[in-house]
Parts: sequence; C-alpha cells; structure tokens
Amino acid sequence: MEARTEISSLGEFGLIKRINQGIKTKLPETIKGIGDDAAVIDLDAQFGLLSSDMLLEGVHFDLTFFPLKHLGYKAIAVNVSDIAAMNGIPQQVTVNLALSNRFSVEAIDELYEGIKAACTDYNVDLVGGDTSSSRSGLLISVSVFGKVKKDLITYRNTAKPNDILCVTGDLGGAYLGLQLLEREKQVFLANPNMQPELEGKDYVIQRQLRPEARMDVVYELAEAGVLPTAMIDVSDGLASDLLHLCAQSGVGAIVFEERLPIDDHTFLAATELKISPITAALNGGEDYELLFTIPQDSYELIKNNPKISVIGYVTDNKEEIALHTKGDNRVPITAQGWS
Ligand code: ADP
Ligand code: MG
Repeated sequence: MEARTEISSLGEFGLIKRINQGIKTKLPETIKGIGDDAAVIDLDAQFGLLSSDMLLEGVHFDLTFFPLKHLGYKAIAVNVSDIAAMNGIPQQVTVNLALSNRFSVEAIDELYEGIKAACTDYNVDLVGGDTSSSRSGLLISVSVFGKVKKDLITYRNTAKPNDILCVTGDLGGAYLGLQLLEREKQVFLANPNMQPELEGKDYVIQRQLRPEARMDVVYELAEAGVLPTAMIDVSDGLASDLLHLCAQSGVGAIVFEERLPIDDHTFLAATELKISPITAALNGGEDYELLFTIPQDSYELIKNNPKISVIGYVTDNKEEIALHTKGDNRVPITAQGWS
C-alpha cells in the first residue's frame, strides 16, 4: 500500500515548506519566490510584486452574516495588504470566482460593488480573472500585482538585532468581531425571533467585515523618511506573524504586554465574551495591520504617528521570542497562544 500522510500532520506552514522544498526558481528575473508576502520580480527599473489570497465560503466567511459587498471589499483589501507588507504600491488585480446556482445575478452585482469600491479606494485596476461554476459554495481568489522602487523593498527576513518592533493600528478586534457574529448566529438559529444584540459592537464587527490594508501607513512612512528593516502583514495573528518574521530573520524579539495596542471596544467585547484581550491581540488574526521593524535612529520619525505603536524590540537571541508581561515575567510567544 502506498504511504499516506495526513496534511494535518504538517499544518499549513509545514505544507507550504514542503512545496517550497520541491521548487527551484530558474529565471534571473525571479528575485524572491515562495516565502514572503509577495513574490518579487525584476522589471529593470523597479521590482514587480505578485501575490494571491483566496476566501472560501465555510472556511473564511459565513454568508449568514457576511454581506457580499463587504466580502468583495475584503477580498481586494487582504491582497493589497500583502503588497503593503513589501512596502509596495498595488496596481492591478485579477478576480477568480467559483459560484453555485444558489447565487443570483443581483448577488454577484453586490459582490462586485464591494470589489469596485476597494479598487477605487486602493487605486488599483481590475484587469481580469476567471469564472467557474461550483458544486457548493462561493470561492473568491484574487491576485494582485504591484511595484516598488528597488531600494525601498521590505522583506520579512531582514530584521536586525536592536531594531524597534512596531505595529500599526490595533489588534484583536477582527477576531472578537467574528466571535460576536458567530454568537448572534447561534442565538438566531435557536430562536429566529430574537433580535441580534450587536449594539455598540460596530467597531469590532467592522474590523471583521471590512478590514483595510494599511497603504496609508506605507505612504506615511515614506513621507517621514522611514524605511522599515523588515515587514509582514498581520493576517494570522501577531504571534504567528512575528514568529515568521523572527525565524526568517534569524533573530529573537521581546514584546511588552502593556504596549499591545488594543482598542477600548475590543477590550469590552473581550470582557463580555470572557476572552483575554491579550490572547485576542496576540492570536486573533485577520487584523491586516503591518508588523515592522525600524532602526533605533528612526524612532524620532515615527514616535508622533498615532497609527504606529512601538511594541518591543529585536534581539540576537533567536531562541527567545517572548512576551514581557505587566507582572515582569517573560512568557514564550507561540502561535497557539501563551496561556
Ligand atoms: P500570506 O499570509 O502573506 O498570504 P501565506 O502564509 O499564505 O502568506 O504564504 C506564505 C508563502 O507561501 C507565500 O510566499 C505564498 O505565496 C506561498 N504559498 C502559499 N501557498 C502556496 C502553494 N499552494 N504553492 C506555492 N506557494 C504557496
Ligand atoms: Mg501576508
């Protein structure tokens, strides 16, 4: 009998690693293949950036509470976020759709309203795609092409010891928004006459349903004359993405618990759901903020930007990626949470 290995024994990142081991790029124009937020292609005058992300019904979204317009917007935003993470400017997107006959023409119009709104907001052109029928459910796969000046590209693997660790915006909101939406769905399924209890929850719900790519910060860093030494977008959660950045850079990091940016609305939602706001900030995911490192002498240039929080620093001890707690303990940061 042929050997059969369960994919779950490798996990998503183990599987990507295995795929990567079997791939050798051969073109001199392929500067960076698998392993960063986007592939990097030499276009002579500058670098091209190419990245894909897909959203699958039942895995990444639940249409009982995810409006199609928001879904369209999110599909573009999460792709733009990977270009932002390379310090690049997005330019063109292609959109692949697989749909079942459950969807009407009007539903697809609504999806495209969101796609078009995002293309306007991020100044990108929709230039193609592919459409197929699906036996069940909706799949949206987007690819994005961007550009970056060669001396401005920011990889994941170039963080340096003593760099300052920064993150944009705030963390944990998108995860708590999802928990609230799922709770209300269960309540509704149990009793369809119940009105959803989502008052005052707009912020975290919007974090889940309508994330933004932080192109604003990419432009502000350039204006301030700050070039990050390394950058990644926070799609899987701060912990997981910090571990990627550190592993690839061969460095360690210390994150201060008290410096984690957590919005008041996120804190309240966490309390209500009996979830630790720190765990949500570290492991929540889907915030699509940027995690980046800067040299110490760039600190003065970012310290007054309210969109940027300094959360820690990079060390040369790659064995230690830890949370410095409010109680002055050091707890290893793991992708599963630290409790
Ligand atoms: P991100 O969260 O930034 O989108 P991922 O964790 O999805 O990045 O992917 C990490 C790297 O692995 C990227 O370079 C991506 O292009 C690559 N990758 C992911 N899935 C595959 C695949 N099935 N085949 C080849 N490369 C892949
Ligand atoms: Mg990414």
